[in-house]
Amino acid sequence: MDITIQLTNAPVAESIPPPEAGRAGAWAEFRGIIRAEENGGAISALEYEAYPEMAEREIRRLLEEISARHPCLAAKVIHRVGTVPVGETAIYISVAAKHRGAAFALLKEFMDRLKQDVPIWKRRALPAVHLERDSESQSTIGVRPHCRLAAADRTALRSLKESIAEVQARCQPLPPVRVSLEESFGRVLREPVCAQEDMPSCDRSTRDGYAILVADNSGSFRIVDTLHAADWKPRQLKAGEAVRVATGTALPCAELQVVMQEHVEQNGDAIKISRPEPGLNIRRRGEDVKAGQPLVLAGARLDAGKLALLASAGCAQPLVSPRLRVAHFTTGDEIIPPGQTPEPGQIRDSNSILIRSLLQHWPGDIFQAHLPEDFGAAKSESDKWKEKIERANLVLISGGASVGEKDFTRPFLEWLGFETVFSQVNVRPGKPLIFGVSGSRVAFGLPGNPLSHFVCFHFAVAAALATLVGEKAPSFRRGQLAVPLDDAACPRETLWPARLDWTGLHPLPWASSGDVTCLAEANALVRVPPNCHSMVEGAAVDYLAASI
Ligand code: AMP
Ligand code: MG
Repeated sequence: MDITIQLTNAPVAESIPPPEAGRAGAWAEFRGIIRAEENGGAISALEYEAYPEMAEREIRRLLEEISARHPCLAAKVIHRVGTVPVGETAIYISVAAKHRGAAFALLKEFMDRLKQDVPIWKRRALPAVHLERDSESQSTIGVRPHCRLAAADRTALRSLKESIAEVQARCQPLPPVRVSLEESFGRVLREPVCAQEDMPSCDRSTRDGYAILVADNSGSFRIVDTLHAADWKPRQLKAGEAVRVATGTALPCAELQVVMQEHVEQNGDAIKISRPEPGLNIRRRGEDVKAGQPLVLAGARLDAGKLALLASAGCAQPLVSPRLRVAHFTTGDEIIPPGQTPEPGQIRDSNSILIRSLLQHWPGDIFQAHLPEDFGAAKSESDKWKEKIERANLVLISGGASVGEKDFTRPFLEWLGFETVFSQVNVRPGKPLIFGVSGSRVAFGLPGNPLSHFVCFHFAVAAALATLVGEKAPSFRRGQLAVPLDDAACPRETLWPARLDWTGLHPLPWASSGDVTCLAEANALVRVPPNCHSMVEGAAVDYLAASI
């Protein structure tokens, strides 16, 4: 079959000659026209975006596949991209065949599958008010500059600061859940927890010994009762009386002190103090915290200590962030599992374990798989994991984020329903970083090189994760270089891997963004401004804590 494909910004001609004159007995022509309404609202235009090379390849593949079933002589496809005003043709297809049945069948199946299989997206509808009329020609000329910019925005380079701000702005905290303390470790508390009662709730002994009145100067004391830690027996002690108490015992009345058992001599049911006590040996009611005071604030990550405090305060079912569901895919036909020996050209997968390990910090479930390096094949393969992908709060794709011929991460994420927010950052390493959102779901296309992965995870993915779970996103801290940082001027802002110890930050050597060696040491990323040459020892710098 003779196939002609054209992607164009220009209007599609009103009349197009048949693709195959002479041999054809049928010529079916179809035009998809922009309607003045979209999702119930009046619109002036639709905006289409495409990956031209990939779209052409997919259209061709689709036509060839369908024509094997419905043989035709020729097909011509014209797809308009950019802003297509109402009433104009967005898609044109004509098919010539010997008989009409095949032409209709091919046309129908092609149109049915076009949306699903080809990376051309209806970006958005432009509301009617956004259309302007050219005062001279009175013809529709397009949209206001800010509307055009919005499409360009997605591909515009973002600075480090802009990208972090955009990630935080476009993510939203996931609804919290109430779970047991055992399930709460590492989750973020989503409501403040205050003390329900004074802590401790009554005066308690801090020693195993004898409780007597504070001002009692008797020479010897009669033991009138024995109280264990679990006992609660209020009684007013008199001068010359003592009550045997254990560590933690609730004291029977006010104005007491506890004499350590090591500091008394016992004789039957009487004791004598052999060594005066320097203190009272009592934990006072409410001395730790008073009823109503906050114990742990919302946004705090629950670690062992905070959980112990919640347990003490009787908060057995804290309201916390939900477990995250993450789907992570590697791409690249050169990628092999770490246990295999690479043939020339092959590379062991280090990103899967890197991502899995970094995600340990955010309790959740991670699903990992490899996608074939072909848009069509990746789509059909991913069908197997449809449910996991759809349920994922965060979708990560390693590699294929750039603009190479086989780089399909962006169209793939868009095919999954994510709206691309940005696709490039002016950061070294890690320029091709894709960020997409779909409702409350978030996706990143990370550049495949391991060091870029590490860097992009820490400044972008970690910011998204923090927002999803409801904690403050990691921010830059101020530090000092312990040794000079040797760099040639780079127009991009750099996040330089470094080792932070008590002497300061030690920048680590790295040859390229594919250099994995420094990952073993890096626990910080030093922010090196654009066009900055080397920095001297002792220089004050911003850094991001890494490998947390
Ligand atoms: P890409 O971003 O797909 O262009 O990949 C950039 C570089 O990262 C290439 O050299 C890839 O082989 C490498 N790479 C991609 N994925 C991985 C991975 N999972 N583990 C290690 N290296 C990778
Ligand atoms: Mg690749």
